[in-house]
Amino acid sequence: MVTAASQWATPPETSKCVRILIVGGGSVGLYTALRLQQKLKAELGRDEAEIVLVSPNPYMTYQPFLPEAAAGAISPRHLVVPLRRVLDGCRVVVGEVTAIDHAKRTATVATLATQETGETTQVSYDELVLAPGSVSRTLPIPGLADHGIGFKTVEEAIGLRNHVIEQMDIASSTRDPAVREAALTFVFVGGGFAGVEALGELEDMARYASRYYHNVRPEDMKWILVEASDRILPEVGEEMGRYTVTELRRRNIDVRLHTRLESCVDRVAVLSDGARFRTRTVVWTAGVKPSPVLAASDLPLNERGRLKCTPQLAVDGVAHAWGAGDAAAVPDVTAAEPGRETAPNAQHAVRQAKVLGDNIAHALRGEPLETYAHKYVGSVASLGLHKGVAHVYGRRLKGYPAWLMHRMYHLGRIPTFNRKARVLAEWTLAGLFKREIVSLGSLEHPRAEFELAAGGKSSGNPKGSS
Ligand SMILES: Cc1cc2nc3c(=O)[nH]c(=O)nc-3n(C[C@H](O)[C@H](O)[C@H](O)COP(=O)(O)OP(=O)(O)OC[C@H]3O[C@@H](n4cnc5c(N)ncnc54)[C@H](O)[C@@H]3O)c2cc1C
Repeated sequence: MVTAASQWATPPETSKCVRILIVGGGSVGLYTALRLQQKLKAELGRDEAEIVLVSPNPYMTYQPFLPEAAAGAISPRHLVVPLRRVLDGCRVVVGEVTAIDHAKRTATVATLATQETGETTQVSYDELVLAPGSVSRTLPIPGLADHGIGFKTVEEAIGLRNHVIEQMDIASSTRDPAVREAALTFVFVGGGFAGVEALGELEDMARYASRYYHNVRPEDMKWILVEASDRILPEVGEEMGRYTVTELRRRNIDVRLHTRLESCVDRVAVLSDGARFRTRTVVWTAGVKPSPVLAASDLPLNERGRLKCTPQLAVDGVAHAWGAGDAAAVPDVTAAEPGRETAPNAQHAVRQAKVLGDNIAHALRGEPLETYAHKYVGSVASLGLHKGVAHVYGRRLKGYPAWLMHRMYHLGRIPTFNRKARVLAEWTLAGLFKREIVSLGSLEHPRAEFELAAGGKSSGNPKGSS
């Protein structure tokens, strides 16, 4: 429990140094900090400016590569960017902002040490950039909190990969039909980018892995996609969404539109169309909501809890506060109908971050601000190795060309040359050698073997099976 608070460094109002606090180290946080490092190089050198970035992890995750990481095509270390190395002109604090009092220009930060000491840290600032992104939007579905898993972080993607392979191991080592059925049934809820790509990649990986099992065949596995609306992948347009449904069904994936998950208690998924499936795997990707830290601030939010921003990426009606990305409601000035907001995706997040960084520099120098204007160019999605779908710049692509475009596009987008080179090397090696099918679930319980050896009760399964 938090019992006390400590003041962190000199309050900016008593010093000449302008402190810019960035909340979040994702797409917006990283690119804003990079831009500010570049734009305020002279001021940073003269100690007239300081950039502090607070992020729960010391790395930025390139989320569009999470499905490929789950499939084993990219190592987890290669889709994350180390913040301390890239942001050498910034102060990176590993922690979580738990509250913001913008009237007093102060943020409360819980660091890793907070768990030990119970003390939070008060960080004062002059300019605030809010970029905490979004979290999974869950519903009060019975059993979901106990059995569901999201797909937003590298930990979840790798955990899911290990889990799927472990289920194949479980199925392979039992004659109990109920256990086997539950192990080989995989339910994904939500037909957006994350759900469809995760399912497409994992099914493809499991199909490939099954050739190394004497008693698990692809047709023994049940892959189910549950979507409440009448279409999937709205990001690639209606026609490509329909193609994706046909393509997934051709692969024997059970796509259920107009259907909801009603419960998943005791390892049984119950759907709104009456279907029931024994399953040990429920992946929840049915939408996101803005990070809860926004509600713990005195800044204006819209009816969906996103930070109200202007097209210049300033917080509406509030001085010295800025926002962008998934957490921000930014007017889309390129939309034909008024009142539209930019969609929560990396395409906008990265571009907004650059304008945001520029505008903070402009504001500090008393220059006019730039307006964020970007017309959405479309999307690409991977559905497994050599399979994809794309709708970009008005062009529609399917199958191998779309998959290739997906890879090329995201290789160009993942930050730093270092990560691009590593990802490219991995793809090249995977083309020369076979796909990785090993599960390292035991990494999640590194003390299990030792606890058993020492005569204690193991807190995890040493072989990683659950
Ligand atoms: C599986 C998947 C696939 C995707 N594929 C695509 C794609 O193909 N194309 C596309 O355009 N978009 C895609 N997206 C969406 C895209 O990744 C996001 O829209 C984008 O990352 C949003 O950037 P952001 O900076 O707002 O949030 P994020 O990148 O999520 O970063 C938010 C950061 O803030 C941190 N944070 C949260 N709360 C706090 C706090 N209280 N204090 C401090 N830090 C905090 C988080 O830990 C995180 O580091 C995908 C998303 C997922 C999950």
